[in-house]
Amino acid sequence: MTQEKCSEVVKDAIIDLYGTLPDNRDLILVFNGRFKGYNANVHYNSKYVEFRLSKAWKEHSTSLIQGLIQSLAIKVYNTSYQRTLQIDLYNNFINNLPKYTKIDEYDEELSASFNRVNNKYFDDLMDKVNLKWGSRAYRKLGHYEYTTNTVVISEIFKGEELLLDYIMFHELLHKKHGLKKTKNGRNIHHSKDFRKDEKRFEDKNIEKKLNWFVQKKKFKSLFGF
Ligand SMILES: [Zn+2]
Repeated sequence: MTQEKCSEVVKDAIIDLYGTLPDNRDLILVFNGRFKGYNANVHYNSKYVEFRLSKAWKEHSTSLIQGLIQSLAIKVYNTSYQRTLQIDLYNNFINNLPKYTKIDEYDEELSASFNRVNNKYFDDLMDKVNLKWGSRAYRKLGHYEYTTNTVVISEIFKGEELLLDYIMFHELLHKKHGLKKTKNGRNIHHSKDFRKDEKRFEDKNIEKKLNWFVQKKKFKSLFGF
């Protein structure tokens, strides 16, 4: 796609979403070779809004790319918008993506946890995912990345079997339930069904244990012992 074609594609996507251009900032679309899988993000200031997409997106239809751009645009503009066909197309694509991603991240401890959780809560029916330790985070304890089919878990859970399994369970529920949207296209991360499903975790005091553990770890890291 040429630079001109790129900004046309973005402009059309934004107009479909809002009915008009919300402001006159420059709209930029770039394909970045350093992004993994189907990752993308948006950077903006008072002069421009720049959509950065991994090179993998280049091979896909303009409508699909526009659905992604619209999903990112919702984070930038504070204007009411309408649900579009492109966003539906994009959601569908993302929800099916894990079936096609490569599994190339592996870790023994995380794998053991995945297997325990898969066996106990998913009848071994959960397909393999990439498994990765994240940084020593106390707030974002874990997340599931739809675009790369990866569960990332904070390093603070190394050696903590029960808590690790709980975080693993939670993240795999994200894979199971998929990305849901409200009527107007906003992400629902923890739907009612999700929360109900989460209650299947065996240890009913797990949330308390988790909070206590995280507080303790945080305290220790603050005071350096
Ligand atoms: Zn979650």
